Amino acid sequence: MNMTDLFSQIKEERLIGWMEKLINTPSVVGYYPEIHHLLEEFADEYGYEVLYDNRHTAYIYLNGKDETNTVVVGAHLDTIGMVVRSIAENGWLNVRNLGGVNFHSVEGENVYVHTRHNETYSGMLINQSHSVHVFDDARSRERDFAEMAIVLDEDVRTKEQTEALGVRPGDLVSVEPRFVTTDSGYIKSRHIDDKANVAVLFEVLALLAKNNLKPAYNTYFAFPINEEIGMGGRFVPADANEYLALDIGLVGGQQSGDEKKVSICAADRVTPYDWGLTTELFDLAEKYEIGAVMDIFYRYSSDASAAYQADNNLAPACIGMGCMTSHGYERTHKDGVFNTVKLALAYLLDRSMQSKEF
Ligand SMILES: [Zn+2]
Repeated sequence: MNMTDLFSQIKEERLIGWMEKLINTPSVVGYYPEIHHLLEEFADEYGYEVLYDNRHTAYIYLNGKDETNTVVVGAHLDTIGMVVRSIAENGWLNVRNLGGVNFHSVEGENVYVHTRHNETYSGMLINQSHSVHVFDDARSRERDFAEMAIVLDEDVRTKEQTEALGVRPGDLVSVEPRFVTTDSGYIKSRHIDDKANVAVLFEVLALLAKNNLKPAYNTYFAFPINEEIGMGGRFVPADANEYLALDIGLVGGQQSGDEKKVSICAADRVTPYDWGLTTELFDLAEKYEIGAVMDIFYRYSSDASAAYQADNNLAPACIGMGCMTSHGYERTHKDGVFNTVKLALAYLLDRSMQSKEF
């Protein structure tokens, strides 16, 4: 089959549909029950099996044409969010961040407190000086975890009443994503990092299944649940010799990224990515006329650099669609998403760099 024919089968409705479902399913760092259920629903539809390691990283494994090589292609399921630190005397919740939360961007947002026994309570994240009519420092008070609180949407006025709901320290808190698409092709939502790339891998897996295609090498599609705290990808199945992480590209300042393109990350905070593999990705983008840029992300790490840092014997690489306002209310464009699907397909299917056939 010709790569261009395969690219023409990328289906916007399916891809954006899964992205919306993924984004609307809470999966703050370490909270996997709901998102694993959705992953299994996807896998069932296309005849795949989901496997888990003891860290609750999920895998879909495919045999390759050449079974002497094994690679990992990963996108993390987890999102930034919060964990309940304590319950205040007035019944409000004090929190700590999980991952790089910018509290300026979540003030006033609806949040969901996931308790140990399957109850989820909605609430609102507020600054302690929450009203300009009441507090002199409503505008100037710092916006960081120590100055914020969650007010539950329940009739609770005391610590005891909140505890009676089953809420406890250690409960995990997810944030309302507010997924929106526009006629001009933009996608606006929290957690485009990294659900947009999980959706990319779903589209890749759907296309492989529909066309009965094997990847060039044995491939683990890996979905960690703790990337945002630097732990995703640290464990890698022993037989893997490459880790391609799909994670967001950065936009603005000195970044080369663009919401309509796929960024190929040449280096991040941890390490330069593998020279040969990164060059191969660049050459694949040229060969198949995929809108791509080379860039470095110095306030950033990925599942692949985490895998490399954890002394796994593998070559790391990282690609992903350009994403504006990262770790806030984020934005990307469907063209950047499609370009990421194309580059992931090219990487999985064409390791020859010789011809347009595979
Ligand atoms: Zn990410």
